[in-house]
Amino acid sequence: MQAVRTIALDPAAPPVSDLARLVQAAELGGEAPEDDSPLYAPRRKIYPQSTHGKFRRIKWAVLLVTLGIYYLLPFVRWDRGPNAPTQAVLIDFPARRFYFFFIELWPQEIYYLTGLLILASIALFLMNAIAGRVWCGYLCPQTVWTDLFFTIERFFEGDRREHMRSDAQKWTARTIINKAGKHFTWLMVAWWTGGAWVLYFADAPTLVKDLATGQAPFMAYLWIGILTFTTYTLAGHMREQVCLYMCPWPRIQAALTDEYALNVTYRYDRGEPRCSVKKAEHLHALGQPAGDCVECLQCVHVCPTGVDIRDGSSLGCIQCGLCIDACDNVMVKLGRAKGLIAYDTDLNIKARLEGKQPFVKLVRMRTLLYAAVIAVAGGIMIFTLATRDSEGISIIHDRNPMYVRMTDGALRNGYTIRIVNKQLKYREFIVSVDGLPSTLIDFVGLPPRKDGRQLVSVGPDQTREVRVVVTDYSATPPAPSTSVLFKLIDIDSGQVAEMRDHFFGP
Ligand code: SF4
Ligand code: SF4
Repeated sequence: MQAVRTIALDPAAPPVSDLARLVQAAELGGEAPEDDSPLYAPRRKIYPQSTHGKFRRIKWAVLLVTLGIYYLLPFVRWDRGPNAPTQAVLIDFPARRFYFFFIELWPQEIYYLTGLLILASIALFLMNAIAGRVWCGYLCPQTVWTDLFFTIERFFEGDRREHMRSDAQKWTARTIINKAGKHFTWLMVAWWTGGAWVLYFADAPTLVKDLATGQAPFMAYLWIGILTFTTYTLAGHMREQVCLYMCPWPRIQAALTDEYALNVTYRYDRGEPRCSVKKAEHLHALGQPAGDCVECLQCVHVCPTGVDIRDGSSLGCIQCGLCIDACDNVMVKLGRAKGLIAYDTDLNIKARLEGKQPFVKLVRMRTLLYAAVIAVAGGIMIFTLATRDSEGISIIHDRNPMYVRMTDGALRNGYTIRIVNKQLKYREFIVSVDGLPSTLIDFVGLPPRKDGRQLVSVGPDQTREVRVVVTDYSATPPAPSTSVLFKLIDIDSGQVAEMRDHFFGP
């Protein structure tokens, strides 16, 4: 069995983070620490303290924009002309359409959603390569809703100290009123969250009326119930547990990151050895070093996941930047420079320790590669969306009989043709067949017009299925299987859609 390596540190060394210990151990020629921490830890209730500063403001802005979009988007209208829904973003299951402003996707175009998911993944990788867990700290729905629920909790039960004191004491009538108010408001937010979700699947103003009058479909109530429960549980009760134990992204991003990615970092080169202001003055007077960290624990108290950033990077840190704000506020009060905790890299810490110049390297092979993939994939999607056909044809050959010999010796094959009209107006089409020397094509059940042509009309944004028979009158019988090309032609615009199939003979 492989022996567990042990760390060999200078016992007189000041308290430093795990990461610093590793660096120090490596420098001293020591070994990695033995990790004997338990596999499962009991849950510790976290009372995050409110803070203010640049990153808090960014988080407020992101919260307002993302929740604003989520709750209000179903009510945004978009004029697509007659015969089309007016909701800007709509997943219309009965009509099997997805509408996103000027884009309308049909079921057979679902690959655009796959492309969108690929783009989103690469964008996530790019964010990660530039500034770590930006998604986790600012944009993830779990973070945004938990932040909102923390705000509601503080409104009713007070900030960290007040809340902790009230939880430690015997419950009073005020405690019960505060807790009831909090849970009621949480449930209301959760209910709105579920309610907003279902509005993406039907005309929002109509569905709101139907929901209020009890006339909405059962599925709408069911989904609102499910999402109310999940939002209330995940954002109100499970909070950091989702990030710590349920979400796979921290593990994935840990494998994707590199040493140049900016991350929320405690600059232990500046902070250590930690000591109070008084002790620092004393140490300075003796000519001894003293770090800037005053052990006030403000960075830990504001952390929504209960992490001590001074212990180095960990999966529990969602990189929300709130500890930067908290520490900056402390530094300002002490008259010291901000940035004891900041977006930085371990490489820079090492560089500073060695007296070298720190640097930020945002443009590197992986960021360029991610940006290139986003540009290419996005470009292809935009191009294909802009140039896609507004008509389509699909064909199924009759299975039985494969062909029929007519009394005059001609051969006949039958097909079912599905014609797609993606435009929002009526269109008329003719269908032709190439590949056989002498053929006639008939739409079954459709009479010819005065000019002898047989046209098939398709309603706006609709598909139509028609039966077609193709008869071959050529003197020489065709091969047992001849490849033929069906052409669907719009008689007004001349736009053409094509599909190949086979003509069978004996
Ligand atoms: S807030 Fe800053 S000074 Fe206070 S404990 Fe954290 S790192 Fe040290
Ligand atoms: S350690 Fe700092 S950045 Fe990380 S989750 Fe806590 S407050 Fe946010």
